[in-house]
Amino acid sequence: MKIAILSQDGSLYSTRRLKEAGEQRGNEMRVVDYLRCYMNITAHKPTVVYQGKPLENFDAIIPRVGASQTFYGTAVVRQFEVMGVFSANESQAISRSRDKLHCLQILSREGIGLPVTGFAHSTKDIEGLIDIVGGAPLVIKLLEGTQGIGVVLAETYQAAKSVIEAFRGLNANILVQEFIKEAGGMDIRCFVIGEKVVASMKRQGAPGEFRSNLHRGGTAEEIKLTPEERTTAIRAAKAMGLKVAGVDLLRSNHGPVVMEVNSSPGLEGIEKATEIDVASKIIEFLEKNAAKGKNRGRIQY
Ligand code: ADP
Ligand code: MG
Repeated sequence: MKIAILSQDGSLYSTRRLKEAGEQRGNEMRVVDYLRCYMNITAHKPTVVYQGKPLENFDAIIPRVGASQTFYGTAVVRQFEVMGVFSANESQAISRSRDKLHCLQILSREGIGLPVTGFAHSTKDIEGLIDIVGGAPLVIKLLEGTQGIGVVLAETYQAAKSVIEAFRGLNANILVQEFIKEAGGMDIRCFVIGEKVVASMKRQGAPGEFRSNLHRGGTAEEIKLTPEERTTAIRAAKAMGLKVAGVDLLRSNHGPVVMEVNSSPGLEGIEKATEIDVASKIIEFLEKNAAKGKNRGRIQY
């Protein structure tokens, strides 16, 4: 097969591993910096042009769209979809997953366990908002933050009130969430491909840190999921319409709760913690599903 990896940087661990795994399985792999593509939008022959030439005859793409490049990145993915190329994740599902609030709304519609979450626009409603999630301590999140930046634990009612006021004063969109204290600074990353969890790890925050993000100094190791955690992760990815997803769970007193669903989950942390060749599993999935032209006319915008 001929597969394009849409990534801004060919030297990133995930990009390198996908290229290597694809080539090992006998595929032709090409890393394409989607920000340097331009598109010809026409009914006869829609194309994506890269380095002066149209990208033709690709069977599949693997989008690795950066969080700050969602708009242009998903436009390029959509163009490949129009051309009938199979995408590891569809453009719409990627856009949806980038908005934490939208993501939680979709999961709640499916009855998937979530931390109790509140959302508001006007600062006048702060007290009501704090009450919704059961008072302090609580977690406040910027809607489009990543890597733990923009996630704050407010231990008291007063602290919660002033942080919310400050964020709102900056016109930032935030959500307010029940603090799952019993998680003890640990969360679980489930790597879903198709309808399977292919690898899972637990991430533990540095001492005194409630955020388990590896970027914030957390450490990772393999974990065995309970059947309930496994089904929750698969259902969450499916509800989001993602074929490749990193589903993050917390172990709460009321069962697993989903915090977020990531559409470009990193490979480095999970492969190193579990020693599972996740990159090859993604390529295998594409080989099984990207029969030429299979996509044409199927995608809905
Ligand atoms: P980001 O997208 O920046 O990674 P997350 O929503 O994943 O933001 O939050 C970052 C980390 O903070 C999580 O991995 C988790 O360890 C911790 N955390 C987030 N929300 C809660 C919560 N409601 N209760 C307890 N811990 C939380
Ligand atoms: Mg996270």
